[in-house]
Amino acid sequence: MDRLEDLDHGVNVAIIGAGWAGMAAAVMLAQAKTPVTVFEAARHLGGRARSVEIEGIELDNGQHILIGAYRETLRLMRAVGADPEQLLLRQPLAIEYPGKFSLRAPRLPAPLHLLAALLAARGLTWGERIAAMRFITAMRANAYRIAADMPVSELLGQHRQSGALARHLWEPLCVSALNTPAASASAQVFLNLFRDALDGARANSDFLIPRADLGKLFPQPAADFVCANGGSVRLATPVRTIDKSEDGFVLDAAAQRYSHVVLAVGPHQVDALLDRFAALATTRKSVAALAYEPIYTCYLQYPPEVSMPQPMTGFDGGYVQWIFDRGRLNGRAGLLAAVISAHGAHQNASRDELAGAIHRELAAFLPGLPAPLWSRVIAEKRATFSCRPDMVRPANRTAVDRLYLAGDYTASDYPATLESAVRSGVLAARLVRGEHA
Ligand SMILES: Cc1cc2nc3c(=O)[nH]c(=O)nc-3n(C[C@H](O)[C@H](O)[C@H](O)COP(=O)(O)OP(=O)(O)OC[C@H]3O[C@@H](n4cnc5c(N)ncnc54)[C@H](O)[C@@H]3O)c2cc1C
Repeated sequence: MDRLEDLDHGVNVAIIGAGWAGMAAAVMLAQAKTPVTVFEAARHLGGRARSVEIEGIELDNGQHILIGAYRETLRLMRAVGADPEQLLLRQPLAIEYPGKFSLRAPRLPAPLHLLAALLAARGLTWGERIAAMRFITAMRANAYRIAADMPVSELLGQHRQSGALARHLWEPLCVSALNTPAASASAQVFLNLFRDALDGARANSDFLIPRADLGKLFPQPAADFVCANGGSVRLATPVRTIDKSEDGFVLDAAAQRYSHVVLAVGPHQVDALLDRFAALATTRKSVAALAYEPIYTCYLQYPPEVSMPQPMTGFDGGYVQWIFDRGRLNGRAGLLAAVISAHGAHQNASRDELAGAIHRELAAFLPGLPAPLWSRVIAEKRATFSCRPDMVRPANRTAVDRLYLAGDYTASDYPATLESAVRSGVLAARLVRGEHA
């Protein structure tokens, strides 16, 4: 691999896709004063984590949550002048199923904070608390590695994690983090997150809940940073073909040649853009083999006096998994966001039926709840890949010299998240610069 300095003045990088991976790569390159152009098919930045306009207000295409262990995301936010302390509500790990289960991590060093949280949790039997501590001790002893990957539910079964422990702690954490039900999710990927979030510094397990629209967290400040550092971001400019000639890469969307390409589109968009490269047949095959999971977000606008007891509340027994109170988060009083991760029966309901059912679930919790003023269901059918055991994920480096992949689906020990997208973009930029030769 060439060092960038060896490439003389001919370096100019095309990044295809302005999601969090593409923008992370662009920021890294712009920071190093490497000429970069980002091509984005949509009229907006951010890809699957973007702002959309609903009823005249900017909202997110889906409620997102970050955790303290997202070190690269937080680092790049700071690099582009987006202050995580202002933009994200930092809360110690806390899971609340009102009247059923409550777990709150005190401000103690890890893993004591988790052990203390389990001891003080409401809704667990003493047998379940002891089983949880044994499980954590066993996972720690093996450095969170298992000899052979398996579904999360199998790992939980092997370690007697049943009852409320499974239903209100491990399974919701699994489906939220991996967007895959415990019965089919990769135990090893779950443990990777467990290791970083629950057994690193205490702050790694903090929930970081956006107080601003997703666009303001990273995509927009990142684009501003790229443009201020000599790069450019072209919205509404889809790339339909990539070819390689002797003097560089040729994109149908641009007249000039590019020395390097970072393909930062979603996994289901990769195949069509690589069809001119016979050497990439294996890469295309592994991306095509990915299965997907949806995420549904239902916004319900109630009168401003309606609010939840905390910013994030767990629900079970119906469709809703979590309710986020946007009034408590970014001042839009009365606006609640209901989140349903992964596949399930909700996919068979029409949007109106779903919004109605979610309202009824909320009304059972908030007696006297008036009808919503409006509601909107956003169904992201391919929100993330389905994070199964022993997945084969393609590397950032491809068999075509100077053509790299970036995105939440590339090889990584994390599930499809903002952090895996950002890490992948950072890695692709480093490969462009020859830093990981
Ligand atoms: C509803 C929802 C909720 C989520 N919740 C969380 C959460 O709570 N926490 C978390 O960490 N993660 C969450 N995720 C996952 C997270 O959003 C994704 O992992 C991440 O945004 C993926 O970023 P990416 O850059 O890899 O891909 P993408 O966001 O898919 O970006 C790809 C970009 O490429 C563009 N593109 C495609 N084809 C072309 C082309 N031919 N030419 C030019 N541009 C093109 C697309 O328009 C898009 O902008 C959630 C996802 C969804 C959908």
